Amino acid sequence: MSADRTIAVIGGGLAGAKAAEAARDAGHDGRIVLVGEEPGVPYERPPLSKDVLRGDKDVSVTHVHPDGFYDDRSIELVRGRVVGLDVEARRIAVDGAEPITFDSAVIATGSEPRRLDIPGSDLDGVHYLRTIEDSERLGTAIRSAGRVAVVGAGWIGSEVAASARQMGAEVVLIDPTPVPLQRVLGDTIGAVFAALHSEHGVQLRPGNGVTELRGSGSVEEVVLSDGRVEPADVVVVGVGVTPPGRAGRRRRAAPRQRDPRRRAPGDQRAGHLRRG
Ligand SMILES: Cc1cc2nc3c(=O)[nH]c(=O)nc-3n(C[C@H](O)[C@H](O)[C@H](O)COP(=O)(O)OP(=O)(O)OC[C@H]3O[C@@H](n4cnc5c(N)ncnc54)[C@H](O)[C@@H]3O)c2cc1C
Repeated sequence: MSADRTIAVIGGGLAGAKAAEAARDAGHDGRIVLVGEEPGVPYERPPLSKDVLRGDKDVSVTHVHPDGFYDDRSIELVRGRVVGLDVEARRIAVDGAEPITFDSAVIATGSEPRRLDIPGSDLDGVHYLRTIEDSERLGTAIRSAGRVAVVGAGWIGSEVAASARQMGAEVVLIDPTPVPLQRVLGDTIGAVFAALHSEHGVQLRPGNGVTELRGSGSVEEVVLSDGRVEPADVVVVGVGVTPPGRAGRRRRAAPRQRDPRRRAPGDQRAGHLRRG
């Protein structure tokens, strides 16, 4: 019987919310605690670069579950960052909340945007997109922008470029690859996306990295690797993701899980949680 057993889910994104739901659906009748550091209920991120960014839909469309779901299923939502995981004692430490003792834990801490590490990358007007707050802030900035430079033509960069055009901004999309989405879709389909962007007025700068952002206080110019200088008052960076807590650090091999009793999808993501 599971009535006296506790499942702790660390990370309140889509995976965490679905893991809690699945545990209840599978018949776990003990305590389920979902610990997430973001405010509000668990949400999905895809609309943040599309409808929500453009202001076409309310943020409530992002919610993973309908209102009342967590109460109805007796899933406790705890808000706070998990800062320690003691596997021996089966206890997690949460910044700003009581420690939680568990029988089983699920680690679903996802990822966060990789940061640009070039001169000027800390200027105002440089945006990353991960959270609802990021999307709202970026939407406001794009609405009053003259020219938006998007660094990285993967999914997030391509979607933001398209949305920003729809919102009326002038947009330049910069990436070292020859066509957008090349790494995920290849040259042929990438060329289709390049044509689509061009038809809609997105200015493409393929084959280019970004070496510097310039401005006094706020970003004003983006310097490309071929020496060209692009004016921009908003810069959006979409250059991939890293495990949480590692953004901006040099890439290195992900820490491996050495405790054979612990199993988690994306096991390496546990690396940022200090073992107690
Ligand atoms: C703007 C945007 C658009 C996207 N569009 C699409 C799309 O169209 N299609 C698609 O398939 N995918 C899309 N994705 C990717 C998709 O959103 C991710 O694959 C998905 O969010 C992964 O879910 P997750 O729950 O594993 O991780 P996450 O969404 O990263 O959630 C992890 C959660 O854990 C929390 N957390 C991390 N560390 C701790 C800690 N120590 N303590 C407590 N909480 C912690 C984080 O704050 C976060 O809330 C998009 C992503 C973004 C950012």
